[in-house]
Amino acid sequence: MADIISLLPDHVANQIAAGEVIQRPASVVKELLENAIDAKSSHVQLLIKDSGKTLIQVIDDGIGMSPTDIRLAFERHATSKIKIAEDLFSLTSKGFRGEALASIAAIAHVETHTRTEADEMATCLKIAGSKVESQELSVAPKGTSIAVKNLFYNIPARRNFLKSDNVELRHVIDEFHRVAIAHPEIKFTFYQNGSELFNLPAGIIRKRIANIFANKIEEKLIPVEEMTSVAGIEGFIVKPDFAKKSRGQQFFFVNNRFIKSPFLHHAISSAYQGLLRDGYQPGYFLFLQVDPKSIDINIHPTKTEIKFEDEQNLFAIIKSMVKHSLGMFQAVPTLDFDRDPGLDTPYIFHNKDPQGPPPIEIDSSFNPFQKKAGVKNMLNKESWESLYSGLEIPESESDSNEELKLDITYSPKVFQLFNKYIVTSLRSGLLIMDQQRAHQRVLYEAFLKGITQRDILSQQLLFPREIELTHSQIALFEGYQENLHSVGFVTQLSNNKIVITGVPAICNDKQLNQLFEDVFASTEQETPLESFSQADFISKVIAKSLSIKPGKDLSIAEQQALVDDLFACKETLLSPFDRQIFVTLDKEELENKLN
Ligand code: ADP
Ligand code: MG
Repeated sequence: MADIISLLPDHVANQIAAGEVIQRPASVVKELLENAIDAKSSHVQLLIKDSGKTLIQVIDDGIGMSPTDIRLAFERHATSKIKIAEDLFSLTSKGFRGEALASIAAIAHVETHTRTEADEMATCLKIAGSKVESQELSVAPKGTSIAVKNLFYNIPARRNFLKSDNVELRHVIDEFHRVAIAHPEIKFTFYQNGSELFNLPAGIIRKRIANIFANKIEEKLIPVEEMTSVAGIEGFIVKPDFAKKSRGQQFFFVNNRFIKSPFLHHAISSAYQGLLRDGYQPGYFLFLQVDPKSIDINIHPTKTEIKFEDEQNLFAIIKSMVKHSLGMFQAVPTLDFDRDPGLDTPYIFHNKDPQGPPPIEIDSSFNPFQKKAGVKNMLNKESWESLYSGLEIPESESDSNEELKLDITYSPKVFQLFNKYIVTSLRSGLLIMDQQRAHQRVLYEAFLKGITQRDILSQQLLFPREIELTHSQIALFEGYQENLHSVGFVTQLSNNKIVITGVPAICNDKQLNQLFEDVFASTEQETPLESFSQADFISKVIAKSLSIKPGKDLSIAEQQALVDDLFACKETLLSPFDRQIFVTLDKEELENKLN
């Protein structure tokens, strides 16, 4: 193969905004994977050790490099992908800056083996801190293998700045997802410390998504497709019922490149409005094909943000496309006479200006926590009034109704308001507390104490519970399993599952799946070790998940216990999330109001 690399003219090099290319192991992974894809590989292997801190190696079966090209490849602004400035506006490759390999070789030990189809022998090049240590002939299959060892070995400040293995691994997995989803036609394998995290055979996009996220995601996807003059869009959105609390399933690709676009994300979120429970995130895998001339990829050095020429139109198109597809999906199970006839007409966007979204009927008063809302409110009002008579206790819908009714002589010091607040009398007046926040505080302190003093009791489950995990979840789970144990969980990892055999006494097994989903969601979207200790983080997540929610009916005994527990806490004013727990109304205020 002919030599194909040439140096960019300086003005083009400057035109390409300079930036910090390598911030962490994940940045190296991204650059090496992208190079392998640009090299037309059909199988790409990623191997890392210690979350990439010790080793990152990418092996591909692509076009390889000639002995001359490989030397140039490590020079700054050396690229085979663009030659003149105009090429920037018709990019089809991932790379174009020609600075990734040069940057990586400046801050690590890099060993490359590469061979083109035409060459009989491969070349092995070793570079450390930008200095070529050796270049020799070697024997290797066609393609390229680049091993990056001891990242930041010569910049201790940078190395010390790296987060825990768990956090860095998560970044690596994120990058891997982005590249792998964009290229289902390429086979990918990924090993961390010798064990296989992913093995993704080449195939169609739907299968690729399923292979990465497991958990039967295929059934949860709604296909979307739209051809307009602005962009061709296709992909999948996740059915609202299967929404997650994490942002782990949000992917935009423009011309097969992963991008972040808060603006387009907003278009999708607004289409989901009213269909998701509080705190849940829409999931989507959208592939946009646009004319390379209509976008500018060059506004961000790590190339994950781009500018569209026609943003407003794109927003409207995506919003109504998603809304329409959700509408179709929602309409299916409803009865015929309920059906919006607009949804049966063929939907063709082409060459039309975006119009308002098709109507989706939403029960805006829907509250997922409340069963039989109307009835319940009435009951509550009655019970609330009955308290004033001092004769009865609030009627409760709970199973223990019968027993409670008998105990009419019991005179409560507490009662529940709107199934959300607990009202209790103080010597000086009245105290109204938010039941959820109070409970969060109680649980948080209990768990934190459990973790630090290791004195939480665990109860054994009669039937061990299994929760299936994705590969990335398993990798993350290993990092905080120990803290879960110290709050009373007894868990084991086996194959793709966590097997739970014991839980903290406070946790009932109905809450288990939700709890683990919350733990994963939080660890996927937040970086536990960045702000505070992991014990603090885990305690907060569990407290939030297990806490009594608004809408939950509490028995008098439960209300009383919560009040007592809160006032036994170290901190009583604020929830672990810094929200005020209660307000008081004292005698003086009351007298002023009634004056
Ligand atoms: P860029 O990708 O922006 O061109 P890089 O520094 O990442 O810059 O790579 C420089 C050049 O090295 C590329 O243009 C390409 O010609 C060559 N190269 C890098 N990785 C590979 C690979 N895996 N297979 C073949 N050629 C590669
Ligand atoms: Mg590159």
